[in-house]
Amino acid sequence: VTDVAPLRPVVGGGTLVPLVDGTRVSYANLDVAASAPALQAVADRVTQVLPLYASVHRGAGYLSQVSTALYETARRTIGAFVGAREDDLTLITRNTTDSLNLLAGCVPAQPDGEPGRVLVLDVEHHANLLPWQRGTDATVLTGGSTVAETLAQIREELADAAAGRPFALLALTGASNVTGESLPVGEIVAIAHEFGARVLLDGAQLVPHRRISLESTGVDYLAFSGHKTYAPFGAGALVGRRDWLDAGTPYLAGGGAVRRVRVAGTDWHEGPARHEAGSPNVIGAVALAAACEELAALDPADVVAHENALRRRLVSGLEAIDRVEVVRVWADAVDPVGVVTFTVTGYDPGLVAAYLSAEHGIGVRDGRFCAHPLLGRLGFDAGAVRASVGVGTAGEEVERLIAAVGRLVAEGPQAGYDVVDGLWVV
Ligand code: PMP
Repeated sequence: VTDVAPLRPVVGGGTLVPLVDGTRVSYANLDVAASAPALQAVADRVTQVLPLYASVHRGAGYLSQVSTALYETARRTIGAFVGAREDDLTLITRNTTDSLNLLAGCVPAQPDGEPGRVLVLDVEHHANLLPWQRGTDATVLTGGSTVAETLAQIREELADAAAGRPFALLALTGASNVTGESLPVGEIVAIAHEFGARVLLDGAQLVPHRRISLESTGVDYLAFSGHKTYAPFGAGALVGRRDWLDAGTPYLAGGGAVRRVRVAGTDWHEGPARHEAGSPNVIGAVALAAACEELAALDPADVVAHENALRRRLVSGLEAIDRVEVVRVWADAVDPVGVVTFTVTGYDPGLVAAYLSAEHGIGVRDGRFCAHPLLGRLGFDAGAVRASVGVGTAGEEVERLIAAVGRLVAEGPQAGYDVVDGLWVV
């Protein structure tokens, strides 16, 4: 796929990085699922607004007014990008982790005062697992090996609970950060709503890759991160139904979240302010909104075609190499996003990643991807290697990875590694 060009320019493209042999090559960033480089348009917007920022919602001066307007406009842009319904709230958070912890504090208790019940799958990123285990009564379901089987399990679990202690929420990944695979959103929403449960989608890996609309899918809550959506670090979002959010006790307490504070008690605001205590991150919100605008300007079919070409080549190229195995959760998953995880038998994943960086200038991620239960269930407790692509990825980078892994298997690494118990390690 050497002829596949990036869909949009990103900052840092073409950066020269040193290799162990002393030469320099242009960096192939195939770790965009961890953090994606900013779109050039986002960087331009940040540069434009940087001189303008001042206190948001807290000052009468001109720049405070401008900053407040920028912040609130960014909120509307972010909400519109994910099809927020008229009555939904769009909260500016720090990232997906922050969004999910926030929502975990807002799931209503059961009628007898017990914490609200939340159903999650074991395929989740820890960010969509641990907040529910702490703040709510979480049931973690071991998913099946096909989409159909997993949907049937979810239905059964929700149905069994419905007569007694029904689930308030089904918290599910929008796209796996390990395999890029998804469950069909429409079917999930229909099943959950049939049994009175709301649906939260962890959109950290979905939103950068696919257009998703709360309004048209019926998804109740969506969480995502700016730094995975081609904006720099610092801002994320939680978008969804306002009743739980307006009733929940804010997990972050402080200035801006309150209507009135007396020594005897506090009246919290309703609306976004309730959950945005402290001085807001206006530049982060503007950057995320700029990324949303830029992604909205792309034809979704072009995004999918670009990404599918890269992903298919990654999978077929890697699978054609002796000893390489590509990780899958659901054999029948459709339309996975550009995240491909693999192992190379005989090579520690840490070594593969270090070799790709030191000898080929390729950035990938290795480890268990904050998804220990899933990696354990699939038999990859020793970890794996993940390559991921986005709108800024060129086909040449994918080809470079495939050639490099092929060379590793054919020749072994050139320098700086040991063999321990038959395994190449760093
Ligand atoms: N969910 C998924 C699916 C992710 O991939 C990640 C990040 N790896 C997160 C949640 C957490 O995102 P953040 O670190 O931006 O909070």
